[in-house]
Amino acid sequence: MKKVSRFLISKRIFILFLIGLGIYLLIHFYDVSLWYILIFGVLTGVIFGKVFCRWMCPVGFMMELMMGGNKQFAAMYQYHKLGCPIAWISGWLNKWSLFKIKIDKDTCIKCGKCDKACYISSLEPKKYSLYRGDNATSSGISYSCSKCLKCVAACPNGSLKYKI
Ligand code: SF4
Ligand code: SF4
Repeated sequence: MKKVSRFLISKRIFILFLIGLGIYLLIHFYDVSLWYILIFGVLTGVIFGKVFCRWMCPVGFMMELMMGGNKQFAAMYQYHKLGCPIAWISGWLNKWSLFKIKIDKDTCIKCGKCDKACYISSLEPKKYSLYRGDNATSSGISYSCSKCLKCVAACPNGSLKYKI
């Protein structure tokens, strides 16, 4: 299971390309209403949190391509993304979604690799952390977490999982 999830996370851009292309073709050739896409995005938000932006959105794919060369700019874009109602609603749903990024505190060795991999805790280390558990909020439930799952992939001993 660990291998499957790591493989999927490593292929996220390709998955985003495939699903994004499928959604674009549905809109372009079958006149699927943007309202249906919005409803779909919100439903995925209820189950998975803000996954639409980084795993399914055609615009998100284009934005990632355009900013791929500049990691800091890409991080700021992901962090402050404000342009899309799916991002607004599903980001807000991160706190209540069925699937969440969860930590096993018994196996966590507090190495901090998860925080280093995450653009949220990297940009605001005092406010957000995935493991510290002091006054910091978990990055995974913040509005800006768009489920790239880099934190999960970065954890050396599988203490972070994205699950129900
Ligand atoms: S999935 Fe993990 S690494 Fe990605 S934004 Fe959310 S908390 Fe940060
Ligand atoms: S990467 Fe894993 S082991 Fe290291 S601090 Fe984060 S959750 Fe703990």
